[in-house]
Amino acid sequence: MADKTVKKVSDGNENIRSKDKKRGSGLERRLISLAFWPMILMGIVITIASYFIFVYNTQNEVRRNLTNAANSLRIHYDRTFPGDYTVEQDSKGQYKLLKGGTDISDTNEILDEFKAATGMEYAFFYLDVSMLTTIKDGNGERILYATAQPFVSDAVIKNNKTSFYNNIVLDKSKYFGIYLPLENADGTTIGMLFAGKSTYEVEKESMRAILWVPLITVIFSVIGALISTIPSKDIIKTINKEKKFLAEIAAGNLSASMDEKILHRKDELGDMAKFTQSVQRFIKDMIERDALTKLYTRRVGQSKINYTQYQLEEAGVHYCVCMADIDFFKNFNDTYGHDCGDLVLRETARIFNENMIGKGYTIRWGGEEFLVIYEDFDLDKAYAHLCMIRQKILENIIEYQGQKLSVTMTFGLTQGDNRSIDEVIKEADSLLYIGKQGGRNRIVTSRDASENKDELAGIREKQKNTIKI
Ligand code: GH3
Ligand code: MG
Ligand code: MG
Repeated sequence: MADKTVKKVSDGNENIRSKDKKRGSGLERRLISLAFWPMILMGIVITIASYFIFVYNTQNEVRRNLTNAANSLRIHYDRTFPGDYTVEQDSKGQYKLLKGGTDISDTNEILDEFKAATGMEYAFFYLDVSMLTTIKDGNGERILYATAQPFVSDAVIKNNKTSFYNNIVLDKSKYFGIYLPLENADGTTIGMLFAGKSTYEVEKESMRAILWVPLITVIFSVIGALISTIPSKDIIKTINKEKKFLAEIAAGNLSASMDEKILHRKDELGDMAKFTQSVQRFIKDMIERDALTKLYTRRVGQSKINYTQYQLEEAGVHYCVCMADIDFFKNFNDTYGHDCGDLVLRETARIFNENMIGKGYTIRWGGEEFLVIYEDFDLDKAYAHLCMIRQKILENIIEYQGQKLSVTMTFGLTQGDNRSIDEVIKEADSLLYIGKQGGRNRIVTSRDASENKDELAGIREKQKNTIKI
């Protein structure tokens, strides 16, 4: 049943992994688009902003150019035809524009020359009526005797003011246009000189000039997105490793290990890895360790011992086994209650837990009986370490409801050899028994006992019917 669940979870992860490989993980795509779209948006904003800035600058430029061109034309006429602007009707009743008495109605070619040189349209207005012009209608006829829009003649003729417009409509086309007031010698404004440029032409030039902005934006956005994949890829790789670690835990493999490099990261991913590892340890402890003492349970301990013996024998390394039992433990229960007994157990186990790190491990073998396994320790080394533990237990005063309690323990210590582990444990138990018989609060090693082989043999015989491991 449990195996099936494990298989299902790992199958699920395989599916996710292969899908991720095919189309890049969702997170990867999201991280890249997170960098990509702001760049595109920025590009659009830059394009629009630069368009308006450009249009504004272009308008000013056009206005300057138009003013210069109109002034040049005015000066040219003043020099060529000195005198005032007047109108008169010819014999056919047609109005003619005169300057200094000279008929200038047929000088449209001068305007055309200016137009060819500047690319601008020109017109002379007598009052608000066009008398000379470069602007032609659909049939190629000059638009003469046309009336200027009232707001133009109001501003220019009535108020004698040079005026610029960006929305002049001439024969259905829009123009940027400047109107200069034409003054006669007596200071009266008699007409207007128009110089204009097609809005369409100006905008076409503007568009051509700023076309590179969106182009560059797109190129930089793509380059930016590609560059942004470098840190993103590292993040995704780390997240995938953490995901794999979590999947292992979800599949029941509590021995899975997290990549050390990720654990050393100083960012959120490093924190997440550490938290995940803590959760793994917590679950592992919950399953493997006894709730009261936090020592390994006998069930887990048994398989650990078998594994230790197999591993150490393979490597030809020594190991030692010690059976330890709290002396007169029942008295704590009987005198102060079960809670006090629990506290004594917890406190004593703590000393084992703290001092066995890197040396081996401790199993809660029975009620107040601990089995200590020393890995890669010979008898002398284990004995020396056990003396230290025994001393710490003796010095550890436990306070319970105002009472100061001290604990002693008896230890039976032996070294593993080619015997079965059960036999080695039995020997440690026999040695513990000798210690109890001998007055408790002591360590009895196999070496001590071998000095009195007969005693040990006798004890073993006695124990046969009473001790079961
Ligand atoms: P000795 O010195 O010969 O070992 O004497 P002892 O009193 O320590 O040994 P005994 O076997 O007579 O008593 C052990 C007691 O431990 C009996 C049992 O009720 C108690 N015990 C076992 N497990 C627990 C536990 O988890 N909590 C508490 N409070 N007591 C426990
Ligand atoms: Mg005891
Ligand atoms: Mg006991």
